Amino acid sequence: MRLLLVEDEAEMARWLMRAFKQSGFVPDHAPDAATAEALLAANGYDLVVLDLQLPGKHGLVLLSELRHAGNRIPVLVLTAQAAVQDRVKGLQLGADDFLSKPFAIEELEARLTALARRSQGRPHAPLRCGSLSCAYDSRAFLLGGVLLQLTPRESAALWTLLARSGSPIEKGHLSGKVFPNDSSAGPNAIELVLHRLRRKLQGADVRIVTVRGLGYMLESVAHENSAA
Ligand code: CA
Repeated sequence: MRLLLVEDEAEMARWLMRAFKQSGFVPDHAPDAATAEALLAANGYDLVVLDLQLPGKHGLVLLSELRHAGNRIPVLVLTAQAAVQDRVKGLQLGADDFLSKPFAIEELEARLTALARRSQGRPHAPLRCGSLSCAYDSRAFLLGGVLLQLTPRESAALWTLLARSGSPIEKGHLSGKVFPNDSSAGPNAIELVLHRLRRKLQGADVRIVTVRGLGYMLESVAHENSAA
């Protein structure tokens, strides 16, 4: 079981790393959010143990960015005692469990084991926007319960947009996701993919809008439809 510990306090990190190893985890340690992001991008972890007070970027910002990118890895947040606000915010941002400092190592181990067991039996929650959803593992898109027939490029574009629905995706970033190994793909190539996607979403309660200067965004139009 691979585990990433994000903790800036050296003594705390040393103690935890030793305990994790003794409990049979394979832990890596990141002393700040930037290191954590690099390690998460490079390695497949089963669990993250996340301290909130980090230098540079706050732990909740890191968590929020992970979830916005579609990463559903189980995260246990370490909070200062009585930090109720952190718990509420953490839950809203997609934390799976909490532990207040100071804690007994036995309790942390028990929580991690439970979290790992839960996440293994539980499929990742599908991504959703309006009546559009996509299973995390199969990447099958359903629109109003009907399977959407998409080409691999359309699928890559829609996945990227759906993972951050409601936020604009920069055109170059989207293009990089759709044509990852093709630097010769011109600016029109991604527009063609989006044009075809828009036609397939026509009449649905989700749409791809162009946000001037920012890129493209998938949004739900349920309210407008019900008002019309
Ligand atoms: Ca800290």
